[in-house]
Parts: sequence; C-alpha cells; structure tokens
Amino acid sequence: MNFDNPQLYTLTTIEELEEYNQQKSAFCNLQPGGVGFFQYLHFIKTRLMIKHQISFHLYQVPSQMINWKLVVLSAASLISAAIIIREIQLRLSDSSKDKSLTTLSPRSRGVESLIGNTPLVEVKSLSKLTGCKIYAKLELANPAGSAKDRVALAIIRANEKLGQLQPHHGDIIFEGTSGSTGISFAVLANALGYKAHICLPDDTSPEKMQLLRSLGAELEPVKPASIVDPNQYTNTARAGARRINNDPSDKRNAIFADQFENDFNWRVHYSTTAPEIWTQMDHDVDVFINGSGTGGTIAGVSKFLKERNPNVRIVLADPQGSGLANRVNYGVMYDSVEKEGTRRRHQVDTLVEGIGLNRLTWNFKQGESHINEAIRVSDALALKMAKFLCINDGFFWGSSAAINCVAAVKTALKYGPGQKIVVVACDSGDRHLSKFWKHAEEVDPLVTLDDILESK
Ligand code: PMP
Repeated sequence: MNFDNPQLYTLTTIEELEEYNQQKSAFCNLQPGGVGFFQYLHFIKTRLMIKHQISFHLYQVPSQMINWKLVVLSAASLISAAIIIREIQLRLSDSSKDKSLTTLSPRSRGVESLIGNTPLVEVKSLSKLTGCKIYAKLELANPAGSAKDRVALAIIRANEKLGQLQPHHGDIIFEGTSGSTGISFAVLANALGYKAHICLPDDTSPEKMQLLRSLGAELEPVKPASIVDPNQYTNTARAGARRINNDPSDKRNAIFADQFENDFNWRVHYSTTAPEIWTQMDHDVDVFINGSGTGGTIAGVSKFLKERNPNVRIVLADPQGSGLANRVNYGVMYDSVEKEGTRRRHQVDTLVEGIGLNRLTWNFKQGESHINEAIRVSDALALKMAKFLCINDGFFWGSSAAINCVAAVKTALKYGPGQKIVVVACDSGDRHLSKFWKHAEEVDPLVTLDDILESK
C-alpha cells in the first residue's frame, strides 16, 4: 500500500498498520505541533481501533492547512471520551462482582491451613444492654472446633523441627486432656501422619469420648485423681510416651504434648490469636477477658496486648471451684471447696469444662503479672448467660464462653459505658450437650440480664 499520496486510507489489519508505521516513521517528526506529532496522534488512534477490530479512516492533512485550535479540541474530546468509557467499564465490572465474595479467604491446602484467622463478632444484645461494645473471638471456628487447634499444631510442628516426630512412621502423640486439646490432636494426627493417644478422666462426657473414638484416637480413660497421683491423666500420658521411647525394640517415636507446661502453648497465642484480635479491633481494646485452663490463651494474649497498650485491662473469668481467682485477687491459691470434706471429686467442682484449676501451671505463670483482676462466676450465672445468648443472639456456645460473657457484663457495669471489651468463645455448645447444656436447656427462655446479675 502506498501511503504517500492519498489523503484518506482505510486500514483494517495489524499488518497494514505495521506497514504504515514503517513507511511513516521514516519522516515522522514527533514534535508537538509538527506534522509528525499529528500523525502520531492518528497512529495511537489507529492502534486502539485495530485492537478493538473496528475499521477506521485516517486523514492526512498538509501542515499549513491544520487548524490547531481544532486539533487541540479534537484531542481533548478524544481523551475525555476515553476517560468516560474507561470509567463506565470499571463501574460495570465492579457492579458485576458479588460484594459478599470479597471477604473470602484465598484457597488453601489441608485442614491445618484452616487454623487461625477466626472471626470476631459483636454480641449485640450485651452491647445494647451495657452501653459498651462487647465482642467475641470465635475460636470455635477453628477446624477441630476450638482454640486448641493452634496449640496442637504449634506443638507438632515444633517437635517435627526438633526431630522428635516424623510423619507416616507410626509416631505417637500422647496427651492428657479431658476435652478440646485431645480432639485437636486427634484431627491433626490424622491429617499430618501420626497417631493420637489420649489419656482422660473416665467421667468425661460420653459425646467427647465418642468423638475421639470416631476420630480414630487411642483412648485411655483413668479414674479422676489429683495431679500428685501418678495415675492422674496427665501423668499417665507422660508415662505412656516414656515407655515407648525407652523400649529399644519399639522403633516408633513418642512425644508427651504436655499442654499445661509446654512453652509453645502461650507463644502461639502471643504470635497468632493476639495479633488477630489487635488487628480486628483496629488497635483499640479496653478490656480482654478469658478463663484459664492451661493459661496459654490468657498469657499469650495479655502479654501481646499489654506490650501494645499497657492500659488494656486483663480480666480472668474463673468458674466456681477454681483457686485461680483468689490467686489473682488475693495472692492465695484457695477455693472454699478445699475445706475438708466439701470437695465432691478431685477436679474443679463445676459444670464448666476447660477452665479453672487448683494449681499453677507454667503457661498461667507467663501471664499472671498481666492480669489486673479476676471475676468468679457461679455455674448458675453461666447457665443463664448461655441460654440468654442462645435465645437473644443465636449464639450456641460452650460453658467457658458463657462464663466470659458474665464477666464481660460485670466489667462493663463496673467501668461504665463506651468500653471495647473482647472475650473468647472457645468452643460450641455441641461439646457440652450432656453436661452443661443439659441444665442450661432448662433455664427460662425469657431470662433477662437483670435475672442473670441478680443470681448468685
Ligand atoms: N475454654 C475451653 C472450652 C477450653 O477447652 C479451654 C482449654 N482447656 C479453655 C477455654 C482455656 O484455654 P487455655 O488452656 O488456653 O487456658
């Protein structure tokens, strides 16, 4: 094609455009205001049109005939039109996206990848009635149903690094636990190539035993006993691991997870749970409230929060029968059921599971200096709160979450409206059907917050 003479060309293919470009580039003077510059504008226009597969006309005008006002106006119109078209395209593509999908997590691999990054939800009824903002960190959203997933994964990974555990070699994880930790280890043992051996009191709720069995864990129920008794479930687990490791004919490795004394416990809450809360709360927390089982959660979270803001108040929510509240408030580990002849069994006397203790653990000690006060919550209050949250908010939570919420309301009323309070909802009511919820179920559904606060 000869581009030199005709005043009007029609280009429809990339090849024609390239040919045009080669011939023209020989004499193009790409100076603003020069003929080359005008051609250059046309060239851009040409590329756009070919890209969109539309035929077009290209006009070549001798420079002396150029009306520069018209050129500037045309260029401005073209640019404005391009901007408007682009804006329309962006709006159309935005409105076609489902907004609810934008908060989805990216794809991930394996059950272990689903641990952590749990939601934080406002408990609307309690916020409204107290004038504070009360939020719950939903640890029950972890894949094996509780905050213990974080701890179990941290302990397994640490032992793999130390060479104490090797996947798919028959290696065994021993743990003494009456609840959530055993379930987390059973799930992760399956997923990561190990066997879980769980020692637990023989009066553990039947649904937990059934769940552990269904998950394929080895169960070793033992009589409830004090920690100084070698047959207490923690001691039985330690002895089991030792037996395998000391047997030269047994090629398997065994670890005793030891959640109460294991340093990885509080550290994983310091490095994951706490920063999640801090970020989800936009660095604005007045009070953090939690019970203590091993003490790992309250220690890790309180240490992190106090480092960020020393004015954050840390409150221990403690069930009846536990000595921790007195330890925090008066420096003495004592509970009235310690009186001769009043204790019904060797564990903390409460319907609440997972929290409360009558001994000091390594993990609790790591957070003790950060705890400002303890609030003791009776079973009666916890049962009413569990029912209240279920009926008014649709939250069907476990007993420790209910205790935390009672403590949150008491704290809100003590320190006045406007505070931002975070509690942990460690597990779901499903785990407590035959014990705690058997009683909570009977609470009057019309129970009010006043009823809860008036009970002993
Ligand atoms: N709530 C429930 C239901 C639990 O199982 C546990 C763990 N025993 C806790 C709260 C307390 O967590 P931590 O061991 O970190 O103190």
